[in-house]
Amino acid sequence: MYCLYYNIGLLGGLHQFNVPLRGADLAIFPHISNAYLVTQDVKIVEYGSMQDLSADKYSFTQCVDVKNGALLPSWCDSHTHLVFAGSRENEFVDKIKGLSYAEIAAKGGGILNSAVQLQQTDEQALYELALERIRELVQAGTGAIEIKSGYGLTLDAELKMLRVIKRLKENTPVLIRATFLGAHAFPTAYKNNPEEYIKLILSEMIPAVEKEGLAEYIDVFCEEGFFSPAQTTMICEAGLKVGLRPRIHANQFAVSGGVQVGVSLNAISVDHLESMDEAAIHALSNSTTIGTLLPNASFFLRMQDAPARKLIEAGALIALASDFNPGSAPSGNMNGVIAQACIRLRMLPEEAFNAATINGACALELENQCGSIQVGKLANFFITKPIPSLAYYPYAFGSNLISKIVLQGKEIHYSSF
Ligand SMILES: [Zn+2]
Repeated sequence: MYCLYYNIGLLGGLHQFNVPLRGADLAIFPHISNAYLVTQDVKIVEYGSMQDLSADKYSFTQCVDVKNGALLPSWCDSHTHLVFAGSRENEFVDKIKGLSYAEIAAKGGGILNSAVQLQQTDEQALYELALERIRELVQAGTGAIEIKSGYGLTLDAELKMLRVIKRLKENTPVLIRATFLGAHAFPTAYKNNPEEYIKLILSEMIPAVEKEGLAEYIDVFCEEGFFSPAQTTMICEAGLKVGLRPRIHANQFAVSGGVQVGVSLNAISVDHLESMDEAAIHALSNSTTIGTLLPNASFFLRMQDAPARKLIEAGALIALASDFNPGSAPSGNMNGVIAQACIRLRMLPEEAFNAATINGACALELENQCGSIQVGKLANFFITKPIPSLAYYPYAFGSNLISKIVLQGKEIHYSSF
């Protein structure tokens, strides 16, 4: 079944190679104007300038007039915590009133709050909540996504979260990667005995995750007051032994050493990076580990932003992701993320698009399937209303410019899955 998209005002993300971009290359977002694109079933089979379109080459089942809108690769969001039981807007209001993170935690807030709620919610209810969130994100242009556990913090609740992610993988048109984040925080029961919780992760949780084949990656919250670099290394090495590649939370609140731990373990990514010193920037720049920036979190927490310009100038690999979670980034909308990246992190629009598409796909190890408009790749893209330029997209940050969503060659509506 062939489908033609014609009168495309701007066809973008036409990368030839499936490798992450760094340095000056990050600012190159190949595109053509006045274009067409052909899909066959789930894949892209051809594209070019309208003047080169030979309409009788295929027998098209469907022809879509894009009416001068842009056709762009779907977002690849490589860092989310979108399986959670309840929202935390009470903490949001406490923060507005000036309460500190420690004061909110003392009132029963934070990750442990989400853990209690999640432990009390059954798998079906969690699945339905997460499915609804994915429906919304797909309509905002996301086509591939990473989802972490980490609000369970007991063997049963962590497995429950990962089984929900597995069901989402099987029942949505989105490409999903699962990450085991048992080391998200120390549960209250282990407050005075953190080593025992690490033992539980190593001796029970990781073997159980492996046995059921529930995750591709392992993550650790490497931060002062959470998991030390030595503990992070120990947990990630145990994951690596059963095929779980690390992607770790590093350098959010402090220069923790997490970046260097990630680089030394050949982690696929180190994520956050709001607190970077020269040594951490140097280590990341000389590696193939991707630095994933999460501007929603620094915006929502009123914190300093990651030094995106310094990282790009040093030649580090950069991706952008949403960090969608109920505490510090209650939005998975990648259109907002790229606007934040341009406005606050001073990334160029082309850099932001590349970081949220091809580099995000590389951070998900899905670069052969998605992340760019390329013959042979999945037909995963969105179509916008007519826009005067690529820069207009993050500039008009409050507008919903998306008019059509296509995943795996099919147009997707809110009620499609
Ligand atoms: Zn996170």
